[in-house]
Amino acid sequence: MTLTEKLLARAAGKASVAAGDNVWVNADVLMTHDVCGPGTIGVFKREFGKTAKVWDRKKIVIIPDHYIFTADSRSNRNVDILREFVAEQDITYFYDVIDDPKGHWVFDPTKGALKRQYGSNYAGVCHTALPQKGHTRPGEVLFGTDSHTCMAGAFNQFATGIGNTDAGFVMGTGKLLLKVPETMHFRLEGKMQKGVMAKDIILHCIGEIGFDGATYRAMQFDGPGASSLTIDDRMTVANMAIEAGGKNGIFEFDAQTKAFVDYRCNLNGTKATYEPVERDRNEKFCYELTVDLSKLEPTVACHPDPGQRKLAKELNTVRLDRAYIGSCTGGKTSDFLEFARVLQGKRVAIDTFGVPATPEIVHDLQTARWGEKTVWQILVDSGVQMTENAGCAACLGGPVDTFGRMNSPMKCISATNRNFPGRMGHKESQVFLASPATVAASALTGRITDPRECLPN
Ligand code: SF4
Repeated sequence: MTLTEKLLARAAGKASVAAGDNVWVNADVLMTHDVCGPGTIGVFKREFGKTAKVWDRKKIVIIPDHYIFTADSRSNRNVDILREFVAEQDITYFYDVIDDPKGHWVFDPTKGALKRQYGSNYAGVCHTALPQKGHTRPGEVLFGTDSHTCMAGAFNQFATGIGNTDAGFVMGTGKLLLKVPETMHFRLEGKMQKGVMAKDIILHCIGEIGFDGATYRAMQFDGPGASSLTIDDRMTVANMAIEAGGKNGIFEFDAQTKAFVDYRCNLNGTKATYEPVERDRNEKFCYELTVDLSKLEPTVACHPDPGQRKLAKELNTVRLDRAYIGSCTGGKTSDFLEFARVLQGKRVAIDTFGVPATPEIVHDLQTARWGEKTVWQILVDSGVQMTENAGCAACLGGPVDTFGRMNSPMKCISATNRNFPGRMGHKESQVFLASPATVAASALTGRITDPRECLPN
């Protein structure tokens, strides 16, 4: 069996499963957020009854993160609906925007978009917050009402996005009927060159198979190149499995995974026991690709989908209006550090927005010092509009007052993960997906730029 088949067999209580089997799978964690949570709760109450209790109050994790820093009253209300449900059900893990369990969330636009407006429990973008808060464990099954839930495959777990109806069912039963996906095998070899990042790996792979090339399939990443990737890098790669239509992305368990997961579970007092799955000799794959990481170059996915692969150096005549760094995929501390390495001591030529994925990342950047300055200050001095209001922001467009949203047709280079028309706002805008290093280099020149042109020696 492949890693995904082994995970699903275990979760289904079976000795083995094969691709195409339909199995009832037990969930270890169900995650939802402010956009899909209210709908999921509605389905749960409709199907199980107004006074029904969730299947396990300690296995539901609720993380408001999407439409938070907006004056749109219906978006604010969604956070209140989550808070009321958490109180009613006594749910253990709720990362509220405000500290008052009886309060109401209201974003105050008069305070501006840059200064922190959240309380002490707020966790930021769900997929980045889940591992930081100790909710991702090897060998487990994570369902989330968000397509990029697949990011947690970096931790050797089966993690996939589901709709509100399925999530309402999981909320009531802890189970879901799943078809076991076929597995595509991506063997990574070699080491990335300077200027090349994990984002380039996944943009390369999606470019090979197209934006629907992994539809309802598992994408397994392994080999020596995968082992050499940091945890953040693995998260970036697994996050974008869905951009090829993948059911999930998955990595092997190793010492790095163990160190990260053990530290985070202990830090947050979450469940610290788990059982990873290892590779078998008799894995059956429906597709095989070997990627030599040392041959990869800075890569861009052009408008209008993540499979439109080109090299950054082939696009250097494309003029840009905007640059954006943020999201679960591209808003981690390591992403901002690489971004800052390119920008340090220089000035951006176009509007550039920076949205850290979580408050912890804001803290990292505001405390990491390079010489006299913090990394945050280096970015601000380079002309980047940095907000402390960590969240999804313009990655998903959002209400018109969302920080960084494109409210008119423009061309934007972005470290986010999805570029279908209208994704970041105006439906006639064009989004070019790239690594944080390529976004930084392009912000400096105002055209798509290979970061190797700008990197310090
Ligand atoms: S940052 Fe973007 S991709 Fe990630 S969860 Fe938020 S909207 Fe989705």
